[in-house]
Amino acid sequence: MGNARTALVTDIIRRYLVYKGYNVKLVQNLTDIDDKIINRAAELGVSAKQLAHQNGEAFFEDSQRLGIQPADVHPKATEHIPEMIDLIQILLDKGAAYVIDGSVYYRVNQFAEYGKLSNRKPEDLLAGARVEIDERKEDPRDFDMWKAVKPGEPSWESPWGRGRPGWHIECSAMAMKHLGETIDIHAGGEDLQFPHHENEIAQSELATGTPFARYWMHVAFLKIDGKRMGKSEHNFILLRDALDNYPTEVIRHFLISAHYRHPLDYNRESLTKSEGALRRLNNCLDALKNYYEDIEPSETTAMKSQFTLAMDTDFNTAQALGAIFTLVGEVNKSLSTLDEAAAPVLAQAYQALTETCQVLGIYNTDTQIDDGDNVQQRDQMINLLLEIRQDARNRKDWETSDKIRDRLKELNIEIKDTREGTTWKIIS
Ligand SMILES: [Zn+2]
Repeated sequence: MGNARTALVTDIIRRYLVYKGYNVKLVQNLTDIDDKIINRAAELGVSAKQLAHQNGEAFFEDSQRLGIQPADVHPKATEHIPEMIDLIQILLDKGAAYVIDGSVYYRVNQFAEYGKLSNRKPEDLLAGARVEIDERKEDPRDFDMWKAVKPGEPSWESPWGRGRPGWHIECSAMAMKHLGETIDIHAGGEDLQFPHHENEIAQSELATGTPFARYWMHVAFLKIDGKRMGKSEHNFILLRDALDNYPTEVIRHFLISAHYRHPLDYNRESLTKSEGALRRLNNCLDALKNYYEDIEPSETTAMKSQFTLAMDTDFNTAQALGAIFTLVGEVNKSLSTLDEAAAPVLAQAYQALTETCQVLGIYNTDTQIDDGDNVQQRDQMINLLLEIRQDARNRKDWETSDKIRDRLKELNIEIKDTREGTTWKIIS
């Protein structure tokens, strides 16, 4: 759930920027090789590659269930080893790194601005660096970018001998490859600010001489019943379990009910609140739908400006929700008076509410409006695709046939070939 909060905030920021007319390229990397994966794989008796693959699959499945749209690129660390080696070589050439026994370390004292992101004082930086005591380092703050091979660990060839990349260099290399030398927005959990993001900056900026990221967004921790959520505390909730108990929109509403920089507490009461809010929203939109039919949507309303203002202020989703639900309250009041003169205003409210709720992904017209016509049309379109697929199969064009099957699956439509023909069903 903690990671889901970060992923969801990223999803909403992307939706909002697209809504505002920006061209967005979202890159979300998969760390498929690091100490954690290697240690956990050893515990489970599987290969690191296998475990990373399983983790990736689970992540995509959960993200889809939460209505998170896939990123434009999902680079994997193990597919960018040459880029990492190149970057390390640049830093070595600049005197910002040194090699010891096949490992390469970053020389922190070469980067005067080290610590600028987390605003840490030198003594704090030393305290933070003591986690891994390595006598061979010139300075305790130095960190490894390349780790010499250890028995039983995955490894790659490099100019310094076989080994594997350090976690920090993975991100710098992948970010640079897919987004260029300077990123507009870099997001991540607040626990990554130091040392991980600090080290990403140190590596990238020393190598390129330009700023690594224009804006940093650190998503605060999620708590459970007032306590910190974490594996080490044996106190955590899996997103998939939460989604078994609550609809997607309720979980989304809950996760954005606080500003992303503020902690958020997962407890029964807050989930019940989100459930109630969603019920009010859906009831309101159901009632408003009737007013919407013949009225042209207007360009702007006061609520939409409030929504935009909130989102423009460091993506304050809590305030954006406030604007939406204030309007829901007002609409409910005027609906109860049954004043026909209010119809155009109500139509406008419907338009503004659906538009803003779709940016936040808490109302999905595609699934909510299931009146007979739409369902019938959908079914006819699926059957048409299956017909085309059958034609492809008849001429042994398996590529097209598989493509249709896989793309439908992505849309949550599962098809099955039986002796009687092909059947389909909607999976959730
Ligand atoms: Zn990173």
